[in-house]
Amino acid sequence: MKPIYLDNQATTPIAPEVVDAMLPWLKDNFGNPHSPHLMGRQAAAAVEVARDQVAGLLPDGGRVIFTGSATEAINLAMGAVRTREGRKQITVLDTEHAAVRDTALWYRTQGFETSLLDVGQEGLVSLEDMEACLDQQTALVGAMLVNNEIGTIQPVEQIAEMAHRNGALMLCDAVQGFGRLDIPQQADLIALSGHKIYGPKGIGALWVRDGIELPPLIHGGGQEQGIRSGTLSPALCVGLGRAAKLCAERRQEDMAHITKLAETAHSLFGDWTVNGLLAQRYAGNLNIRRDGLDVARLMSDVRGVAFSAGSACASGSGRPSHVLSALGLEPAQIKSSIRLGFGRYNSIEEVEQAAALINQAAENQLS
Ligand code: PLP
Repeated sequence: MKPIYLDNQATTPIAPEVVDAMLPWLKDNFGNPHSPHLMGRQAAAAVEVARDQVAGLLPDGGRVIFTGSATEAINLAMGAVRTREGRKQITVLDTEHAAVRDTALWYRTQGFETSLLDVGQEGLVSLEDMEACLDQQTALVGAMLVNNEIGTIQPVEQIAEMAHRNGALMLCDAVQGFGRLDIPQQADLIALSGHKIYGPKGIGALWVRDGIELPPLIHGGGQEQGIRSGTLSPALCVGLGRAAKLCAERRQEDMAHITKLAETAHSLFGDWTVNGLLAQRYAGNLNIRRDGLDVARLMSDVRGVAFSAGSACASGSGRPSHVLSALGLEPAQIKSSIRLGFGRYNSIEEVEQAAALINQAAENQLS
């Protein structure tokens, strides 16, 4: 039997509308979008429609660059620090995804000074702390829109204004918020991913404000606007574009549905403690713990539900969660945490069944 899928932060199921839009570009329309003949031009036109669909959810005054993942988009974006003459400081939140955090730390090997900003027990950055961290040396500030492990929504708009007052660029990892929440209009670089918005894996995008210089990461034919070499996949671009458009069309409906699922879950997991702030949180994320629980055992006992151990970094690296550590949780509390992620295709009945299975297994362990 298919497990109940409650791991929508790790990846989302692909929307049927997205599959339908992609199929012709995997079958008969196989032209190279960089070829000058008719088949190539048709493929290129489809890529441009997709670009406009993605851009429709992003601020004016910038362009969309297709990449192979959000991780690649973030690495490309962070290269902008090399163009900021005399500025050698990078500040990112301690709870950023590894794509941002580890890249920022890697820049230490390139002569940059990287600060990981503390977020406190609730997982929310303090704007005063952020202000104190920035100065005329700061090249780039990174803050995610929605945290992938605990769902906290950060005040990205205010952080971007603060970065600008100090002459720095602002990178927003919007992977978990794109298509669901308003996109911060003040950010300079915005990264997103296809497989978190009911689109395909293997494609992401970077939105870049006009006038920002980006050194290429991948050299070659310069196919993607001279910045990112490699033949674009029209099927993946079309899939990302259709997924973005669908998110925009269904935004209120999706949010209302996910809020209902979250309310049901909150009422059924009353014996658990929520990790992180409840108030400023994306409803589709529930990260909870029960002291004394062995989550590795829980996961093997509850095979009928696909969910995450709260302790496992969502990037799948198997490293203990730096996010839960940043909240000040003890290692034992981290090991007794789970993450449930609700999405468009979940039903209330699924949440009820999953809660019954998880709660029963937890009771068996703790009694
Ligand atoms: N940023 C966040 C917040 C994520 O949740 C993820 C994926 O887990 C990424 C970045 C990386 O995205 P991708 O899988 O497209 O590289």
